[in-house]
Amino acid sequence: MSLRPDNLLRNFAFRLSLLYAAIFIVSTAALLALVYWLVAHTLQHKDEEIIMSKLREYATSYLAGGAGELQLRARQENDPADERSFYVGLIRPTARIIAPVNAPNEWQQFQPFRLKLDWETNSITRVPKNTEKDFALARVQFPDGSELLVGRTTNNRDILWQPFRAVALPMGVAIAVLGFLIGGFFAHRALLPVRQIVSTARGIIQTGNLDARVPTRPFRDELDELALLFNTMLDKNQALIRAMRESMDNVAHDLRTPLTRLRGSAEMALRQSGDPVATREALADCVEESERVLSMIRTIMDIAEAEAGTMHLDRQPTDLCRLIREVAELYQMVAEEKKITLTTELADDCTAPVDANRMRQAFGNLLDNAIKYTGEGGTVTVTARRSGEQAVVKFRDTGMGIAAAEQARIWDRLYRGDKSRSQRGLGLGLSVVKAVVEAHGGAATVASAEGKGSEFTITLPTQGASA
Ligand code: ADP
Repeated sequence: MSLRPDNLLRNFAFRLSLLYAAIFIVSTAALLALVYWLVAHTLQHKDEEIIMSKLREYATSYLAGGAGELQLRARQENDPADERSFYVGLIRPTARIIAPVNAPNEWQQFQPFRLKLDWETNSITRVPKNTEKDFALARVQFPDGSELLVGRTTNNRDILWQPFRAVALPMGVAIAVLGFLIGGFFAHRALLPVRQIVSTARGIIQTGNLDARVPTRPFRDELDELALLFNTMLDKNQALIRAMRESMDNVAHDLRTPLTRLRGSAEMALRQSGDPVATREALADCVEESERVLSMIRTIMDIAEAEAGTMHLDRQPTDLCRLIREVAELYQMVAEEKKITLTTELADDCTAPVDANRMRQAFGNLLDNAIKYTGEGGTVTVTARRSGEQAVVKFRDTGMGIAAAEQARIWDRLYRGDKSRSQRGLGLGLSVVKAVVEAHGGAATVASAEGKGSEFTITLPTQGASA
């Protein structure tokens, strides 16, 4: 990023350090102002005490020895050249003779007795002289009508300002600038993961390269975690996009066969328009093939819905054993045709909040597979029982089993085992099972040994969402 002012202002680290520097300057200024006020107040109070005590002393002298005694003492104690010495003035009532008994040089032009001051007996009046100094005056009136004025130049502001101007101000400025630079450096460094995320995202948008990842550091703070989560999100998106592409390829591939057959049958119907029987047969084939394509599309859409969490489930407390009995009855004939013994072992209470139609479809798929992939004379057993808060349904068969390498893939959409190609099927049965069961908050797993048989286990929560 260039150092142009508008670019700098768009830089988060710069703005952050600018903000911190401003907060530092304002809070330090406020603190110093408070300290200044407190110290100035204390010094002023001290000055006033000194002036009042001097006033009392000189008043005692006047009362004891008159104006002469006062003058003598004032001259002895004060040097007109010293700005910290006291001004002592006496105002006589008779002839209004005003006598500055003693006046330090800078009080000469000031002539406090000429000022129209708002006097209050025994209080101090301050007259600002310039930015750093004040004239402070106290007054007392004697029974003979004379008035005594005692004053002093106070330079509290000067005392306070001098070290501030000399040390605190330049140091404050230096600390603020240094703080801004160091703060900016650390903020810039700390925001490295954010810049890396931005550049990675920009790279992906510009080049479309989904392999790009944010470099991660071992040290874990929130931004490192953000980078890590960003990478995980990219991984998931990439996997999802890959799965979608594969899925699209598979769908395109699997639709090609029935659609080609559909076209063939339609062409046949057209060619044999003179023979109504052959035409009818060809049209019946067309209907069958289009039904196959439609059912495939419907199933794929169902799976997508369930996976996206948008599948509508009409969940009612349902006796799973009743569903299993219904499905088993449906497949009894097919099992008998293949000389397969189909048995059920069902517990008494196996109720769970499920969508009966969807669950019947899932159980049907599993039983269909068990019978389809089991040879003549084999056995298929369906068991259902409760285990704590879960219902556990198992479909066990003594069929061909599934190779260990294939077991993770059988749940994928349109996946068909190598040895299963001779059997009818679309490779969608188990995807539907998994999607439906997971949409109910349950899980579907398989344990299988090639050549010995398979056991599919469905666990479903018996509590939770009901109608
Ligand atoms: P389809 O049965 O239409 O091929 P499925 O999704 O139902 O699709 O099953 C995917 C694959 O899993 C099958 O092609 C088969 O290889 C394997 N499979 C499923 N159930 C069984 C089973 N009971 N015994 C052996 N293999 C099975």
